[in-house]
Amino acid sequence: MRHLPLFASLHDRRCLVVGGGAVAERRAKLLLEAGARVTVLAPEISPNIEALAAEHDGLALERAPFGGEGVDAYWLVVAASGDPAVNAAVAAAAEKAKRFCNVVDDPERCSFIMPAIVDRDPVTIAIASSGLSPVLSRWVKGLVESLLPQRLGSLADLAGVWRERARAALPDPDQRRRFWERVVNGRVAEQCFGGAVEAAEDTLRRMLEAERTGEDRSEAQGEAWLVGAGPGRPDLITLRGRQLLAAADVVLYDRLAAPELLKFARREAEIVCVGKTPRHKSISQAEINALLVRLVREGKRVCRLKGGDPLVFGRGGEEIEALVEAGLPFQIVPGVSAVEGCAAYAGIPLTLRDRSQAVVIATGHTKDHGAADLASFRPGQTLALYMGVGQYEQIAAELLAAGHSLKTPAAIVERGTTDAQRVIRTSLARLAEARDRFRVSSPALLLVGPTAALAERYAWFAAGRLEVLDGGAGESLARVS
Ligand code: SAH
Repeated sequence: MRHLPLFASLHDRRCLVVGGGAVAERRAKLLLEAGARVTVLAPEISPNIEALAAEHDGLALERAPFGGEGVDAYWLVVAASGDPAVNAAVAAAAEKAKRFCNVVDDPERCSFIMPAIVDRDPVTIAIASSGLSPVLSRWVKGLVESLLPQRLGSLADLAGVWRERARAALPDPDQRRRFWERVVNGRVAEQCFGGAVEAAEDTLRRMLEAERTGEDRSEAQGEAWLVGAGPGRPDLITLRGRQLLAAADVVLYDRLAAPELLKFARREAEIVCVGKTPRHKSISQAEINALLVRLVREGKRVCRLKGGDPLVFGRGGEEIEALVEAGLPFQIVPGVSAVEGCAAYAGIPLTLRDRSQAVVIATGHTKDHGAADLASFRPGQTLALYMGVGQYEQIAAELLAAGHSLKTPAAIVERGTTDAQRVIRTSLARLAEARDRFRVSSPALLLVGPTAALAERYAWFAAGRLEVLDGGAGESLARVS
């Protein structure tokens, strides 16, 4: 560790910024936000800084060159003059006076560096790369920003308000720590993040009372979260999905959910694979429903992580029905379904002006979902067929019988969006042959319709592979536009 991160309490403490330009302005603003009394010292001071000083009592201006004296009147010093010689002199004076000094763009001379900040007041996260790459630090900041609930701060505020009362009610420090762990991991946090601060405070009050009297230790209610994991690529889960995944006590996941996502669960979370493969049914849907209900009844917050979108051929409806039947609370988080994921990563527009006016989402003939009604699929539309890789013969025959042309373009997208993605471009005439020749296996999505022919032209996903067996209609952009 090259630097020790510290959080300085600068309220009403004097800080010096040497420099009068845009960089000095940014540093002065930051120090003012932390409540410091700031002096900006420079022979020339920008109109922006002057305007800032007019608004802020805490900001004083001194129009003078840095003379090397008086640094010891300040707690912190920032050298932001833009002139290396002046900055070096400021750093040397600060060093001598034992004042921490930040020299802009000169990590060697800094005795403290300014981190990138994620501000969820009162929660503050500082990110630094030891001064080596501020751009990298800002990138990490962006990532952290996207992970943390916007209202994180309101949970910290609530905890601050109740801290003393909890200390009085629960004198045993271990018991108190466990109580707070349940608060920040549990329903109270969820309610805060959802904006229901009063309800959160109510829950907290009840939990504390129950904990104090030793009555009911469970914080009342569990909840089920049906979360769409997206089509396979781990970064295609939604922010909300990832936040709930990170909050769950138990994760029940599918074979189709990207395994990399599981690392976002809490370390203590119980992780259960309830995956089904077409041939090996490890656990039946009825058993999954029963497990879900039992866990939620026990007071657990259960993340049911389902491949794609939970309500598209995922039997999510049946799980919801079981929860409703049992009178248990749940939330549903949508996911990028295979149809959207595969279309995007294969470069196949699902609808396209003058070419495809509708998308028919259907499934092959399967035990879980019955036979598809392909009669609603007409030329000039896109058919997206989930499952049923083994039934391409019947599907093609049915479509041909309904009047679709042998040349109708088709694309089989296998393991779409993942680094193992394969797109097999073919036609209705050779659909089953293409599947066999390229040994397509599940999960694969079939797209049939004029826009499937664009897969060659619009292929963009570097990790994916594209195979062609009889392009059929041989579409090109010229013919599309
Ligand atoms: N709820 C899921 C679908 C579950 S049914 C969703 O919304 O995507 C399982 C079927 O989805 C698979 O047989 C396959 O047809 C399709 N599928 C899921 N992920 C896929 C992927 N990465 N590539 C291709 N097809 C996929």
